[in-house]
Amino acid sequence: MSVKGAMKVDFYRHDLGPAQASDVAAVLASPFLTTGRVCREVEDQLREYFSIPHAVLCNSWTNGALAALLALGIGPGDEVIVPAQTFIATANVVTLAGANPVFADVDPETLLMRPADAAKRITSRTRAIMPVHLYGQMADMVGFQQLAATAGGGAKIWLIEDAAHCFEGMREGYLPGQKGDAAIFSFYATKNVTCGEGGAIVLHDADFHKKVLEARLHGMSALAVDRFAAGRYNHWDMMRLGTKANLPDLLAALLPGQIKTIKARLPRRAEIAARYRDAFADGPLRMPKQLAGQVSAEHIFPVAVADPAQRDVALTAVNVAGIGVTVNYRAVPDTTFYKTHSPMALEANPVSVAWGRSTFTLPLFPSLNRVEQDYVIETVKRQVYPILD
Ligand SMILES: *Cc1c(COP(=O)(O)O)cnc(C)c1O
Repeated sequence: MSVKGAMKVDFYRHDLGPAQASDVAAVLASPFLTTGRVCREVEDQLREYFSIPHAVLCNSWTNGALAALLALGIGPGDEVIVPAQTFIATANVVTLAGANPVFADVDPETLLMRPADAAKRITSRTRAIMPVHLYGQMADMVGFQQLAATAGGGAKIWLIEDAAHCFEGMREGYLPGQKGDAAIFSFYATKNVTCGEGGAIVLHDADFHKKVLEARLHGMSALAVDRFAAGRYNHWDMMRLGTKANLPDLLAALLPGQIKTIKARLPRRAEIAARYRDAFADGPLRMPKQLAGQVSAEHIFPVAVADPAQRDVALTAVNVAGIGVTVNYRAVPDTTFYKTHSPMALEANPVSVAWGRSTFTLPLFPSLNRVEQDYVIETVKRQVYPILD
């Protein structure tokens, strides 16, 4: 649905092209299309970029996170604390592993889960906390480190960072994964680094790494490339229950070039986000507070109306003008499934629920040009501001 003669602005456009085609062609010319040399190359890049000893590529954030939970033996009877304001996948992997996601509310200004929010949800069954680096800003991992170290009463509480859309983030000098036990990234179609579908885990502990490698591939003790190493068949065993989370080289081939140039591409995102922040600074829309002393990955640009009843009117007005919009995110306890699964969570997380009912997201990607962004800003001011008066 769009107004005749209106400009069209996509919600997102990737900027991969012919340069990547030859990288994919090189994989096509090799005997195995799945996990192999290219994945190892990307894992080396990730270990170096984050200065973390181990990296494991996955076919999505979701499957990588599930493999990590299986590797840790987190399942029935266990609890994992997740923010109520995040993408549903953060909670779903806990549920899929058979454990219980326990929702914590978030800071009303940044929308990030704080250590103090998570601390209220700790019980004797808490096995892990999954802070989310939301919209590009990092959660307070030093605070979470202190909480995990003191709250378990001697039992280990694992810190698994949902860094799905925060590859470039930095907070007080540290990067995703550096303070937690692991950080998990997504290379889904709209993320800052993408191969259509994909993900990665960076982690510190050698034993955890070995178990994640097994849990990533059915629980098998060797990858296909290793089973045929040196031209001979090598037997494998099944060590634990695993899933199928390995990334094929065919997709991984899209990643090395993007990771090499990641820092050069961030300023364009930051420039677009800063222009939006300037343009809307004195208007009626709320925007997540930007923390000092941090680098945001500027993944998406959410805004919120004051009254949830006006959200869909505002969103539709932008949409009808030909601009792609989404909602990031309806609070997880505000979905039909979790209303049944965790019936107490809706009332227990009012900040997340209110934000999720009031927010919508504007286009933000490096090739969004001036004319397009001006059109978005003008449309919001002309079509949305009057609704909010
Ligand atoms: C995109 C995203 C995920 C899921 O990533 P997939 O690779 O699609 O599984 C999880 N958490 C957050 C915060 C995300 O933005």
